[in-house]
Amino acid sequence: MTLKVLIAGAGLGGLCLAQMLKNAGIEVHIFERDASPWERAQGYRLHIDADGVSGVSEALPPHLLALFEATSMRALPYTTMVDTNLVLHKRIPIDTYSHTEHHVAQGLATHVNVDRAVLRQILLTGLDDVCHYSAPVVSYESDADSVTAILADGRRIRGDVLVGADGIRSPIRQQRAPHALIADTGLRCVYGRLPASEARRLLPAQVLADVFTFASDERKVLLGMGGVLFPMEPAAASSSLFPGAALPRRDDYVACIVAARPQYIGKTDAELRRASSDELQQLAIDLIEGWPEASQNVLAAGEPGSFFYVEMYTSVPCDLGSSPNVTMLGDAAHAMSPSLGRGANVALRDAAKLGAKLIEVNRGATQLAEALHIYEDEMTTYGFEVVRGAARKGALVIGQNPLPE
Ligand SMILES: Cc1cc2nc3c(=O)[nH]c(=O)nc-3n(C[C@H](O)[C@H](O)[C@H](O)COP(=O)(O)OP(=O)(O)OC[C@H]3O[C@@H](n4cnc5c(N)ncnc54)[C@H](O)[C@@H]3O)c2cc1C
Repeated sequence: MTLKVLIAGAGLGGLCLAQMLKNAGIEVHIFERDASPWERAQGYRLHIDADGVSGVSEALPPHLLALFEATSMRALPYTTMVDTNLVLHKRIPIDTYSHTEHHVAQGLATHVNVDRAVLRQILLTGLDDVCHYSAPVVSYESDADSVTAILADGRRIRGDVLVGADGIRSPIRQQRAPHALIADTGLRCVYGRLPASEARRLLPAQVLADVFTFASDERKVLLGMGGVLFPMEPAAASSSLFPGAALPRRDDYVACIVAARPQYIGKTDAELRRASSDELQQLAIDLIEGWPEASQNVLAAGEPGSFFYVEMYTSVPCDLGSSPNVTMLGDAAHAMSPSLGRGANVALRDAAKLGAKLIEVNRGATQLAEALHIYEDEMTTYGFEVVRGAARKGALVIGQNPLPE
């Protein structure tokens, strides 16, 4: 069988899958809602664990994997708690904190902090001809022989399999599993970025070294910080290792997050969505008003223009049913709260697992429907387990709402 794979969504999971399939000679087309990869603020630092590193290493060709390694910070594998004065309280091995599995290929780091835009650009490299922007998928039609993705502009694209990699509000999931719910975690976050020079002046050295460091108070308002210190500056890395990747220029930084429940914020979601970076930066400072200056100074030194607002939702584990030719990966299937920092990692794991199955189908070693069934069985088992774990940890540390029964 020569497969034609349609992917809705050019996020981390969709791109990782497309890399793996294209490199295996399988026809793949990605349809992305946004007009370009850089249309929306999507965050700064990402912690990539063994799942994510494995996924990326299975999908990428050697020259792109070399770029990933050259631009990934080997963070010390701790989630670290400090008090509100930024004094070290406890360093917890991150595999214990995040329940991270170990199955990474030998020789690769298992915990790295990466810049999301850099990772996305690496994953996009070589996919220009198959990635279609301003092309939201709104629905699909499926029969025993094929599936047709229907785009917002009315175009109908026929393929053998459709993958919903279209994030938490996935129209593919809404059609395939209309009963699957998305729930408010009750968490609202402001993200920003601190230049490394300021971070070195204001933060204990360990904050720049560890995967993630946080402080919280009795309200469970949280200040989190995670560094991205590039072993090689990304633009320089791509010019010397693979100029075709054209990675963006980036300076070292520490990403900051303030997370709180709405009652401590005192503004509606609509007001927060309209707020400017300066207003959000001030809001973050106000949220930790009673904390020692050491913490407040960190937010005050944040890079102007870098602050943005995120509302956190989670999937609610359920049976997603089945389909012979429509499947999902990542947040489309099992979005989770940020408390374990695992959403991207599980999406990358899904991509590699699904990619391997589709390659088997293309070789004629398995039937498509059977391959999707096996993939989904595994993906929903481990994916929803992480959703539940993230909800438990989120409740404990940041006051996340419990998952609905
Ligand atoms: C600020 C922030 C920090 C985070 N930090 C971490 C971290 O440190 N570690 C970690 O593991 N996870 C982290 N996460 C979670 C992680 O970003 C997500 O879990 C991950 O991006 C999911 O990947 P995905 O490919 O499934 O979906 P996404 O990355 O959300 O991509 C979905 C894509 O689909 C597109 N799309 C949407 N609708 C349609 C449509 N109808 N048709 C076509 N395209 C569509 C979207 O535009 C988007 O490009 C963080 C999330 C946020 C917001």
